[in-house]
Amino acid sequence: VYILGIESSCDDTAAAVLRADADSHAVLSSVVIGQTELHKAFGGVVPEIAARAHAEKLDLAVEQALEEANIQITDLTAVAATAGPGLVGGVVSGLMCAKGLAAALNIPLIGVNHLAGHALSPQIEGQSPFPYLMLLVSGGHCQFLIAKSDDKFIRIGGTIDDAPGEAFDKAARILGLPQPGGPAIEEAAKQGDPKCFDLPRPLLNRDGCDMSFSGLKTALLRARDAVLNDQNEIARQDQCDLAASFQAAVTDILKVKSQWAFQRYLEFEPKHPCFAVAGGVAANQTIRGDLKQVAQDAGAQFVAPPMKYCTDNAAMIAYAGLTKFKRSDFDGFDLSARPRWPLDSESPSMLGSGK
Ligand code: ATP
Ligand code: FE
Repeated sequence: VYILGIESSCDDTAAAVLRADADSHAVLSSVVIGQTELHKAFGGVVPEIAARAHAEKLDLAVEQALEEANIQITDLTAVAATAGPGLVGGVVSGLMCAKGLAAALNIPLIGVNHLAGHALSPQIEGQSPFPYLMLLVSGGHCQFLIAKSDDKFIRIGGTIDDAPGEAFDKAARILGLPQPGGPAIEEAAKQGDPKCFDLPRPLLNRDGCDMSFSGLKTALLRARDAVLNDQNEIARQDQCDLAASFQAAVTDILKVKSQWAFQRYLEFEPKHPCFAVAGGVAANQTIRGDLKQVAQDAGAQFVAPPMKYCTDNAAMIAYAGLTKFKRSDFDGFDLSARPRWPLDSESPSMLGSGK
């Protein structure tokens, strides 16, 4: 079978082709058309601009994905598109494109939860048999999930305010670095001293795997203001030291809370010691390295998708679509965009409240 994946929930227009048979699969193409330039002047993603850009670029992304996969449009077996959560205008654009293709080709339409795409992304290349503990850490989310199967996730904790990706983006703005903030901070941090500024690590000494990142941002703002010169400029070394100190604080929070979450996970799944990370922030080498260490210290397997499948892409949507395809879990043309769509709301909980 050939599954076309479509992703348009934020500021990347993406399409991918996945080929699969009964027991194997391969990504044949994964095209991502970014919108960074369009939003540059506004210091953040502007939903209306994003929606229009998706509508303009989706056809091109799909054409390129088919061409790179070296297949005809009529070879497609099903089309899977992100149905939420995300910016509703972009999701609607992607769904309209998917519905048009499904109707014209008379093939199944599959609506995919973007977060399921991230949570299953370690499986695109490589093996991570269920169950595993997943830290999903992205631009809009940060949560620990017990992944029981393709469609069963149990949330055991997460951020109580900002997501780390969002915090990286805001931190970059505070430090005068470009967007997206994650890669910019990571790059600047290489020249900085992570111990130079003492930034807070909220909730670290408290039990539980809930996390908080909003205070960190405020502290960074204060630390920056203290080093500005008379012209309100920041010296390059201060910029790098602040970036490194910020990254170190986020890393510490994720690391310590992962240790806690993993111990809790092991109480439920002692026979399956596996820790997986996914989402844009999992592309950060320092964070990735420390999280790998958490798994190794616990004698557990560590799984993470390759960098290209950490940030938004359509290969993960095609893969999540494939898992629904195998269950014949198709959608009708009344499928609508869901701006909010928690991953664990569809499945019965095994932890009582599940929260
Ligand atoms: P969500 O998936 O929660 O809806 P999103 O789709 O916008 O949000 P992703 O595409 O998964 O999020 O990730 C983008 C985020 O990851 C951005 O906030 C970006 O700054 C961050 N990010 C990307 N690369 C890195 C990096 N190397 N280090 C830290 N953060 C990074
Ligand atoms: Fe995402």
